[in-house]
Amino acid sequence: MRVLSTFSVRAQIKSPRERFIFSLMSSLSALRILLRTEHVARRRVATRARTTLQKSAFSSSSSTPSSSSSSSSEKSSSMTSNAISPSTEKNNDFRYGYVDTHAHLEMILEKLDNMKYEHWIDSVREKEREKVYALDSILTIGCKPENWAKVEHFLQFEEVYGAFGVHPLNASVWDENATKNGLKALREKYPEKMKAIGECGLDYFVCQDPNVENAKEWVCPLDCREQQQFVFKEQILLAKELGLPLVVHARDAGDGEAESDCLDIMRKYCDAQQKIHVHCFTGTTSFARELLESFPNLKLGFTGVCTFKNGENVREVVKLTDMDRILLETDGPFMSPTPFRGKVAEPWMVPYIAKVIAEVKRDVTVEDVFEKCRENTRVLYGI
Ligand SMILES: [Zn+2]
Ligand SMILES: [Zn+2]
Repeated sequence: MRVLSTFSVRAQIKSPRERFIFSLMSSLSALRILLRTEHVARRRVATRARTTLQKSAFSSSSSTPSSSSSSSSEKSSSMTSNAISPSTEKNNDFRYGYVDTHAHLEMILEKLDNMKYEHWIDSVREKEREKVYALDSILTIGCKPENWAKVEHFLQFEEVYGAFGVHPLNASVWDENATKNGLKALREKYPEKMKAIGECGLDYFVCQDPNVENAKEWVCPLDCREQQQFVFKEQILLAKELGLPLVVHARDAGDGEAESDCLDIMRKYCDAQQKIHVHCFTGTTSFARELLESFPNLKLGFTGVCTFKNGENVREVVKLTDMDRILLETDGPFMSPTPFRGKVAEPWMVPYIAKVIAEVKRDVTVEDVFEKCRENTRVLYGI
């Protein structure tokens, strides 16, 4: 590529040696100009990508909370715009990585016709090939001993990490020695990949425990609650012993009892500095405040619920939660964000949650949410 017009200078050069030196210098300066031009062009594309991401919504024809919820009229108009501009999508050196910090991979894939993980992750990579965000990692959760082996299977994949524990709705299977030893053995087997104990906690909303009478009733029987509390306490102690973060599931029956019992147990048994992820937060604002104030290393996980038309209470909690206390998660296969409600929730849906968090908080951009939540995940889980 001829860049310089230096014929007048060239005309004054007589000897072959002078001509050689001159042409060498010309080539070098042409190369410098080329490199500089390319650098500027890249920076422009990157800046455009940021701006477009900030302004864009994510392709969908369905309504979002801003357009469907009359009480959310203060949200920015960006929520109703469409797809990221193609001109900015091919910039591979400027991507926002995100982590789905809570998913149940074995259940997700079962619901997707038993798809193999390798195929599923390929489809995600393909889906995101031209996006400005990309799935970095997934924390998949083992909820009961009989499922742990299935969850272990996914730890062979580079981007997958695991948390193991006993969900409150599985509290009856807790066996003092066998369960604790099983968790300790997993930690020994996967010192790098096992990132937390959980999910554990209290669920008074629904009890599916087949060993408890009235298991299908909407409100958990009291004897089940005691077992849940005991199993929660045991797992808190184990998380402390193993030096692992704790994944907490807390779901109230509407009477405030699960929230207050949860706080009591956590205050009694957790270290003040315990790293805690209260996942799929759907509780009251006062519960959120108490948790955040009591435990400086606690973060709240928000799922697709904050995108639901009737998720106004969760959006209120998002508003009051500082950006450095928020984690992004799907809780897949449950809680698919708008516009995928009714479908299987999958980790690639996290950006739709990030988008709504940015809209709700108003003073932050989508890229702030991606960046901050990515950092929060590193701080809490080391992922
Ligand atoms: Zn849960
Ligand atoms: Zn879960």
